[in-house]
Amino acid sequence: MLREPLLLLSRSQQVKKLVSTMPVSAGIVRSYVPGESTGSAVDATAELVDKGLSVTLDFLGEDTLDAAQADATVTAYLELLQQLAARGLARSAEVSVKLSAIGQALPDSGHKTALENARTICRAARNAGTTVTLDMEDHTTTDSTLSILRELRKDFPETGAVLQAYLHRTEADCRALAYEGSRVRLCKGAYNEPESVAYQDTIDVDRSYVRCLKILLAGQGYPMIATHDPRMVEIASSLAARYGREQGTYEFQMLYGIRPEEQARLAASGETMRVYLPYGEEWYGYLMRRLAERPQNLSFFVKSLISKK
Ligand SMILES: Cc1cc2nc3c(=O)[nH]c(=O)nc-3n(C[C@H](O)[C@H](O)[C@H](O)COP(=O)(O)OP(=O)(O)OC[C@H]3O[C@@H](n4cnc5c(N)ncnc54)[C@H](O)[C@@H]3O)c2cc1C
Repeated sequence: MLREPLLLLSRSQQVKKLVSTMPVSAGIVRSYVPGESTGSAVDATAELVDKGLSVTLDFLGEDTLDAAQADATVTAYLELLQQLAARGLARSAEVSVKLSAIGQALPDSGHKTALENARTICRAARNAGTTVTLDMEDHTTTDSTLSILRELRKDFPETGAVLQAYLHRTEADCRALAYEGSRVRLCKGAYNEPESVAYQDTIDVDRSYVRCLKILLAGQGYPMIATHDPRMVEIASSLAARYGREQGTYEFQMLYGIRPEEQARLAASGETMRVYLPYGEEWYGYLMRRLAERPQNLSFFVKSLISKK
């Protein structure tokens, strides 16, 4: 019931201003976002890698309407990649990029700017010895994002895609992207989408997730199974066995701070387990989407907002 209002708030500039006065150390924010600086993100990455986990880092920010801010985000990724390489972490840690943070939403030149900026980040990732995955945002950006992916893959075939099971179109997109070498993250989807393009009932989203899993695991690509849902993890494991997939030919992914014991269990069983680690000052939209998924956490959030610790 709270999902929709929270997702609407995730894009409210006024509420963002109010909430963003909270320091990142406030309990609920800290549990999902380990820090604001590159150094703190790289330290958190090193800790996870020490525990046998892989990582994908996201420099927080989205819906940028300012070219200078898009450039600053690119610079932040370049600094991050350089530090990952210098600390010997690039083999276990890649980066996730939201195209709306690097210019996709700019009037007139959005698509072109995002493509050029993404190319710069992909080049730096390759030089550092790692890869980029393009996060997927709301459905109005799906075509542009997949078209930028196709362009990038001409030079950087290792670039990862994300598909969202809640969209009606996604089974077809899975079929199109299940080719050799194609890295595809499958998630349920985190945005507030209309009935015309997305399943509204969780049961329908789950059914779609399983159909998409089958396509990706039976295909030739490298599926990245991004979910905290115990049923989806179990189904993915049995489908991987059914399709003769060896460990390491696919991976599991979960968000930083969510079900860490399950992350450790999967890694200990020999699976590749990648943790999505967001960092930076622009944590507001990310946090609101996490609260929308788990409104039980809302009371902790309100307490930390009032006490402003
Ligand atoms: C690595 C990764 C990358 C992602 N990238 C994108 C992206 O690019 N675009 C996009 O739209 N979305 C992305 N998402 C978010 C995703 O779409 C979902 O919104 C989010 O993962 C919640 O869906 P779920 O599959 O975990 O299942 P849900 O249906 O939300 O949850 C199912 C079950 O999981 C467990 N669970 C869920 N949350 C918690 C929690 N906080 N604590 C404890 N248990 C919990 C509970 O048992 C719950 O019943 C990503 C998610 C992950 C894990």
